Amino acid sequence: MSKLTKITASIGPKSEDYATLKQMIEIGVAACRLNFSHDTGEVQGAKFNTIRRIASEIGRPVAIIADMQGPKHRIGDFANGAHPELAPGAEFVLDNDPAPGDATRVYLPDDDVLQSLRVGERVLLNDGKLELEVTASHLTPHASRVTTRVVRGGEIWDKRGFNLPDTTVATSVLTDKDRADLEYALTKNPDYVAISFVQKPEDIAQTRDFITARTNAPVKIVAKIERPQAVARIEEIAAAADAIMVARGDLAVEMPYWQIPAVQRRLIRVCRRLNRPVIIATQMLASMAHSEFPMRAEISDVATAAYLRADSTMTSEETTIGDNPIAVTDTMAKILAYADEDSVENTYDWSRVENIPENDWSRSVASMAYLNKATAIVVFDRDGEVTTQISCRRPDMPIVAVCNTAIVANQLCLCRGVFPIYDEKIYGQRDTAAALAIAEIPRGKTVVVDGDGISLE
Ligand code: PGA
Ligand code: MN
Repeated sequence: MSKLTKITASIGPKSEDYATLKQMIEIGVAACRLNFSHDTGEVQGAKFNTIRRIASEIGRPVAIIADMQGPKHRIGDFANGAHPELAPGAEFVLDNDPAPGDATRVYLPDDDVLQSLRVGERVLLNDGKLELEVTASHLTPHASRVTTRVVRGGEIWDKRGFNLPDTTVATSVLTDKDRADLEYALTKNPDYVAISFVQKPEDIAQTRDFITARTNAPVKIVAKIERPQAVARIEEIAAAADAIMVARGDLAVEMPYWQIPAVQRRLIRVCRRLNRPVIIATQMLASMAHSEFPMRAEISDVATAAYLRADSTMTSEETTIGDNPIAVTDTMAKILAYADEDSVENTYDWSRVENIPENDWSRSVASMAYLNKATAIVVFDRDGEVTTQISCRRPDMPIVAVCNTAIVANQLCLCRGVFPIYDEKIYGQRDTAAALAIAEIPRGKTVVVDGDGISLE
């Protein structure tokens, strides 16, 4: 149903069964995110199998994104399962002593974090509701101790994650857990690997080295932007990665949350200019986890992503552990389809060519399609690059990408307006492909792009 903006769905306990997944994909899920923070190994393996089976039954490519947890930091335990109350102004110590904590201290399993924290920096717990400020740091070869003052108090729970908005942590973007998870995920042939808490372009290079040492498949990398350090270096990170996720959940904890809409707009603009698909993620239809109807603000949020011409919107808990993942998918598809159609009819988006040189050939394709009122753009694509570039110029008509490998067709599912076809037999066969492409769309002119150039048919 969704015509241009793609749906990425997180798949979990409430959506991993064959019947539910099949309905979600039929409604319009183009990409499935498998979150390795929650499940690993065979549980994720089974989801790979189910998605591949459904895609082949329906005869339409579906992208699979294996999402690694990344260096998500957690505190240790408290004695007797207690959750002490921290009062504002009190002193609280983070250290490398595995003994259970109390109201004065707690164990912090990552020594990298203790080593990286500096005086004046913040430690945020409970999604930012509890705030500590570092007042002193004592590092010796044997003991690491960071003293903090409680700025915003509250109950502190064991094993909870925390955020460090001010700190560039000297840590690998791939933890030991990520390496084990990724090793397994690569045996299941993912189309994309997503990496969390990226801080710098080297994080992408390191992940790419890890992948290429284990497979020849051209697996692509999604950089999740959820730290202010990553926003600050977005141009370099987007250039190094293959796709970007605006991970608004953690980002809104690590940055002033009122800046998130501005960051979202900027990231979409950068990605379009650098030819990288961009996914808008987190809390898009969150209330539907336990409600039949979305909140009005959520409807507007999903539509805004379409009007901003993002590549994809993403569901999170609402489709993994929510009551009705099918209703969520259906709602998202309806909002996107309507907003897409409205924006095509009522605005010509000149920003599609913003900052793109006039002689850029993908700009020429988009302009030619627009000026000739083409009903589709047909592309023969070996590696996905040509299609991604044209998609980033945001033409109003569908782009039918004929691919001769399954992984490239799957990867293109993430790109705005792209309808990939994997068929080795028609690859390069202009007439057959064009006929097949326009079979599902209103008849009319098509702009055809292949190795020989661009033509109007
Ligand atoms: P997560 O990432 O769901 O894996 O935490 C998305 C986000 O932080 O928004
Ligand atoms: Mn996150």
